[in-house]
Amino acid sequence: MKVLEHPSLKSLNTFGVDATAGLLLTIETEEDLLSLPAFDPHRDFMLGGGSNVLFVSDVPGAVFLNRISGREIISEHDGYALLEVGAGENWHQLVRWALDQGLSGLENLSLIPGLAGAAPIQNIGAYGVELSSVLEWVTAWDWHNSNWVTFSKDECRFGYRDSFFKSVETDRYFITSIRLLLNRQFRPQLDYAGLRDALSSLGIDQPEAKQVSDTVIRIRQQKLPDPAVTGNAGSFFKNPVVSMDEAELLHSRFTGLPTWPAGADRARLSAAWMIDHCGWKGFQENGAAVSSQHALVLVNQGQASGRQIQELSGKIIDSVEENFGVVLEPEPKIYKGPDAL
Ligand SMILES: Cc1cc2nc3c(=O)[nH]c(=O)nc-3n(C[C@H](O)[C@H](O)[C@H](O)COP(=O)(O)OP(=O)(O)OC[C@H]3O[C@@H](n4cnc5c(N)ncnc54)[C@H](O)[C@@H]3O)c2cc1C
Repeated sequence: MKVLEHPSLKSLNTFGVDATAGLLLTIETEEDLLSLPAFDPHRDFMLGGGSNVLFVSDVPGAVFLNRISGREIISEHDGYALLEVGAGENWHQLVRWALDQGLSGLENLSLIPGLAGAAPIQNIGAYGVELSSVLEWVTAWDWHNSNWVTFSKDECRFGYRDSFFKSVETDRYFITSIRLLLNRQFRPQLDYAGLRDALSSLGIDQPEAKQVSDTVIRIRQQKLPDPAVTGNAGSFFKNPVVSMDEAELLHSRFTGLPTWPAGADRARLSAAWMIDHCGWKGFQENGAAVSSQHALVLVNQGQASGRQIQELSGKIIDSVEENFGVVLEPEPKIYKGPDAL
């Protein structure tokens, strides 16, 4: 395990905001966890690729940086392969590696930044597919009881950008590996109209898995700012879920507001549309801005602090609530410091 005192976290979060930690502990093996003091959620932080986090404060304690590697097909049966993946594996590289092994199921999730261990935290999803469709098991270190625990898919309680780890037992488990069940026989998931249209514009009606992945990559590169160039954490707000009655009422008042079904008697509203409708797209203040490419994405134009980005997000939340009566919820984890908890 590598130990670094008083590191800067600027290059370890895709917003590129300046923050420091008391210690940076790089966890490279499961054994590294056995010798560590208990995690204190007030003072410490678990970090993967830093692509879904906003540091509003310095971290006075330790940042536990997950870098546990390894990916392996551990069994095959009935046309399916079970993969074991170390939590520190880069997600997109894993997707492409699986495709090279002739395994499909992850292609719609191509180019999502971050590491495999964080994927279950918010049940990553894109282009009509969520991690929950392929995840079998999560293995994690329990900071409370100092032991290993495995979670089945049901125990993970996955929801839209949500899980047991994100909203029930926050900060209790350090995920060390995940198991995914992938398919030898490709079954395209083309429910998302934008993906279907992009493929047919290339004259592809019956795509191969790699063609789906390539197309997702192309769409994402056109739609989203590249965090290597402009600091961001992807969508900053979740699409709010409301009752069907409320969705219909909003729809009648705001023609054009996109909504999607979200389970029995619920509907999901387009947060991007509402933010755009309030006039925020392209707005900038103190180096924090709303992307002019995508209204859901907040960006750091270079020198913004985590607090300035958080302040901008607060103004957007207030304005959407004022105009639509709907409260937006941030998607990334916001670390506010020990006094704020
Ligand atoms: C340009 C861009 C596009 C994006 N597009 C999408 C998208 O399409 N769909 C989507 O779902 N997300 C998207 N995201 C968000 C992000 O990429 C995912 O949420 C990703 O899974 C975060 O991985 P990470 O390793 O960077 O996590 P981090 O940002 O490091 O951490 C995120 C959260 O997980 C916790 N965590 C991290 N690792 C562990 C671990 N091993 N054990 C326990 N807790 C842990 C952290 O404490 C934190 O609460 C996007 C982000 C960017 C920058």
